[in-house]
Amino acid sequence: MTALLSLRDLSVSYGHVDAVSGVTVEVGKGEIVTVIGANGAGKSTLLNAAMGLLPASGEIHFEGRDIGPIEAEDRVGLGLCLVAEKRELFASMSVEDNLVLGAFRVARAEAARALQEVFDRFPRLLERRKQMAGTLSGGERQMLAMGRALMSRPRLLMLDEPSLGLAPKIVADIFAIIADLRAAGTAILLVEQNARAALAAADRAYVMELGRISLEGKAAELAKDSRIVESYLGLG
Ligand code: ATP
Repeated sequence: MTALLSLRDLSVSYGHVDAVSGVTVEVGKGEIVTVIGANGAGKSTLLNAAMGLLPASGEIHFEGRDIGPIEAEDRVGLGLCLVAEKRELFASMSVEDNLVLGAFRVARAEAARALQEVFDRFPRLLERRKQMAGTLSGGERQMLAMGRALMSRPRLLMLDEPSLGLAPKIVADIFAIIADLRAAGTAILLVEQNARAALAAADRAYVMELGRISLEGKAAELAKDSRIVESYLGLG
């Protein structure tokens, strides 16, 4: 079976710093895959390289096609989308206008359908659709960033630390949405420092340390692995 996304032997450096070294990661259709690891392990760099926002060596295939030479903007058109850790939004534009901008690649009728679907999925965004994005809470901003990504109708959504800085109740909401998205057929590549929540949500997982994959396997099995429990799950 062809993977939806296949990163093979990917390496990225910032000058003399090797942030990602020879990483191989695959995401199958309809899978939730997580990459967990400590701060600075190279997780964000990996997603940015997969999106085409950073130059990388190695191979990147999406639906069997070599997308290495394709610009980030055009990767969105192919069905790949990244919600960056910074959740960059247009603070002085409304929630609705931020969402509409996410559909710049999508035909008008389909964009209207996508907008309706995003509002169905995130009722809070519908309530606040005329509000300036800059006035939203952290959780709402994360929802808006995810909603905007969904406007491009991705087949694979890459999420960089979607739970970062959010209250536990909101984190639970975000993970429920991730599960719903997968149920609706969207594959997810999830980067998280919140290893417990990520392993509970994912089918498969990779552990990244100092730019390399140190362990990989079924998420449920890794969640019980003593090395993971000691290093990433703590007590309890
Ligand atoms: P975090 O969760 O903190 O984002 P991470 O696992 O995503 O951590 P990266 O942000 O990918 O890790 O960083 C990997 C390594 O690359 C780190 O050593 C980091 O200091 C370095 N790095 C990241 N961005 C840059 C940059 N723009 N210039 C130079 N070095 C960078």
